[in-house]
Amino acid sequence: MRMPLCVGNWKMFGTLAEARPLATGVRDGLRRTKDVETVLCPPFTALQAVGEILAGSSVVLGAQNCHPEPSGAHTGEIAPPMLTELGCRYVILGHSERRREVGETDELINRKTRAALAHGLTPILCVGETAEERRQGLTFTTVEGQLRAGLAEVPAEAIAGVVLAYEPVWAIGTGANATPSQAAEVHGYLRGLLSELASKDAAGAIRIVYGGSVKGENAELLAAESEIDGALVGGASLNAQGFVTIVKKTARAGAVRGN
Ligand code: PEP
Repeated sequence: MRMPLCVGNWKMFGTLAEARPLATGVRDGLRRTKDVETVLCPPFTALQAVGEILAGSSVVLGAQNCHPEPSGAHTGEIAPPMLTELGCRYVILGHSERRREVGETDELINRKTRAALAHGLTPILCVGETAEERRQGLTFTTVEGQLRAGLAEVPAEAIAGVVLAYEPVWAIGTGANATPSQAAEVHGYLRGLLSELASKDAAGAIRIVYGGSVKGENAELLAAESEIDGALVGGASLNAQGFVTIVKKTARAGAVRGN
């Protein structure tokens, strides 16, 4: 059985004055919640403060990006060892906002994925089609291309250490989530590809989370699908109580699924 996973992606939100109470609220709200793993990904500037708040709790720290090199002359960039030093365990890679806004290519995302793995960070590799690609019937072609390129040259045994996030671009920040069956269909397709790229056992163990307008109202139905192993949450993770509700509903659905 795969442990459900909920990831809060705070994006470019969270001064320290905002980040501290948010992290504290999530930590305290989940004190008695079991059977789910929760990750908070604040902006780089809040990693240390949030890490201190989460220390000793069940909520773990993640980052929103990293550079593929361990160090070097790359002004403004953050290297994987800088993240692990602060206690990060996860890193979001290939988010569609970075693909679109700063032109991240599959090739760069692949280098970052390999670097993250080499430094002991679990990549949360994001794939997803645009509205136009879905209209043209290119959903599977798009996510397959992104997955194969993102995992190129990653040894089969290392693929087991990756988390995938299916994030249809048309659902991110729009309020219009994919239906549970739409998401489950793509997750199943991705898992089939993972079987081929790694092994059937590894594919069965890899968590594939869904992202795109997840909120308290839809979290449980999404997580009830056997192919959906949790959620990558943007906007709704900026409210501690709202995010805690999503995590608890995901845990509950996962527990029901596992029975
Ligand atoms: C995201 O940022 O990955 C995301 C899914 O955003 P939202 O939940 O706001 O759609």
